[in-house]
Amino acid sequence: MDVLVSEVGPRDGLQSLGVTMPTAAKIAWIRALAAAGVKEIEVGSFVNPRLLPQMADTGEVVKAARDIAGLEVMALVPNMKGARLAVAAGAPKINIPVSASQAHNMANVRMTCEQGIEAVAEICRYRDSLPESARIGVEVGIASAFGCTREGRIQEDWVMEMALRLVKAGADTVGLSDSVGYANPAQVKRMFLRLRKEIGGHAGGAHLHNTRGQGLANVVAALDAGVTTFDSSLGGIGGCPYAPGATGNIVTEDLVFLLESMGLDTGIDFNALLRARDVLQQALPDVELYGSSPAAGLTKGFAYANPSRGFDPEPAKAVNQCDL
Ligand code: ZN
Repeated sequence: MDVLVSEVGPRDGLQSLGVTMPTAAKIAWIRALAAAGVKEIEVGSFVNPRLLPQMADTGEVVKAARDIAGLEVMALVPNMKGARLAVAAGAPKINIPVSASQAHNMANVRMTCEQGIEAVAEICRYRDSLPESARIGVEVGIASAFGCTREGRIQEDWVMEMALRLVKAGADTVGLSDSVGYANPAQVKRMFLRLRKEIGGHAGGAHLHNTRGQGLANVVAALDAGVTTFDSSLGGIGGCPYAPGATGNIVTEDLVFLLESMGLDTGIDFNALLRARDVLQQALPDVELYGSSPAAGLTKGFAYANPSRGFDPEPAKAVNQCDL
């Protein structure tokens, strides 16, 4: 596998929706994603259920997802309380968001950026105190790393300083998140190259949103900078309640098509991904799903980057039969 596609729909996607997906439907969806070859899924977040009732069943979802062979299960954790809940539920890996924007971090988790870094240090000390078999992986995503709806431009020097401090705090990896779709390809390439220079092997993946249609262009720029992990959500669900028609995370189906077309093995079967999309749509019939490749299907003559995987390369749907 060349690139890890980390599915965040069950967390990032669902938490932005006004509806709550029933637990059994979430588990069926996660199973369908894993059956398509998705290797890592962020299945929920351990946040106050009064603030995000959509995520109240995360403990149960983590437990069910852990039984799926070969799947790396992740959960988002905003603070120490969430970390304890994640460990209790048996989550092997957690993702802690810390924003580079003071205003965003305050609104998101009621902490300054510095307090957010200290919370990561506290969680890492807790991790280190656990018996070796129970030690969780700790990923940090620097949110609003490319710009913020509240503060506008974010200083790149500050983002890099945060990344260094987060590694010192004990994070295994530190990635960069374009939480609000502000990034452009030149900036993405520049910042990920610099991130690798600053923190070496601790440099994490890219979490990109497609709010302004720049998502896949930013993926290609990040690939040029050596990034090999990308977050995405099936059907691009999520969006922003304040920007009608704005899609959420980059679309998993389009990301997989892009990567495989470029000769980069994801281990994911596109047609099986479409079956997972059907599972999602049936569970949430009123939610709009995004993506271009699900409607158009695979191209004629399409070949997976690793042909020995034996996926069916036939076009998924008979469309685009126009002869003109
Ligand atoms: Zn996001």
